[in-house]
Amino acid sequence: MTPRPARHPYSTLVDTPYDPEARRHRIVVPEGAAVGDVAEAVHTVFLTTPACSVLSLEAGDRPLASVGRERFERRMGGPTKPWRGTGDGDGASLAGAANRYEVYAYDCATCGSSAYELEADRPVPECDTEGDGAMVRRT
Ligand SMILES: [Zn+2]
Repeated sequence: MTPRPARHPYSTLVDTPYDPEARRHRIVVPEGAAVGDVAEAVHTVFLTTPACSVLSLEAGDRPLASVGRERFERRMGGPTKPWRGTGDGDGASLAGAANRYEVYAYDCATCGSSAYELEADRPVPECDTEGDGAMVRRT
């Protein structure tokens, strides 16, 4: 048997190879967040941000992988619709406690990049584009 490279727990959600385009929209999840919680947060981002087709998935400040909308939707069984949550009995959703995390959305007022945080106590994200500075909380 050939040993397989170590995979992170979100490998079912992500695309390989990493898509550099993903940095335009990034989601920062807590280290060790359950895959179901991450799936729900990614779902929320795709639902509320139609312009976002690929997301950089980051744990803490470490980019893990990119999540493409197309593959994610295939995996979730169709185009992104409002989250049904667990317990709705379709048997197809990923396991995980619903609404464990709130998704905090930030946008760059200059270039339209966005960042999503699942923890309220993280610093306001900075845009990657030099000179754009801090992002603004989406209301
Ligand atoms: Zn920017």
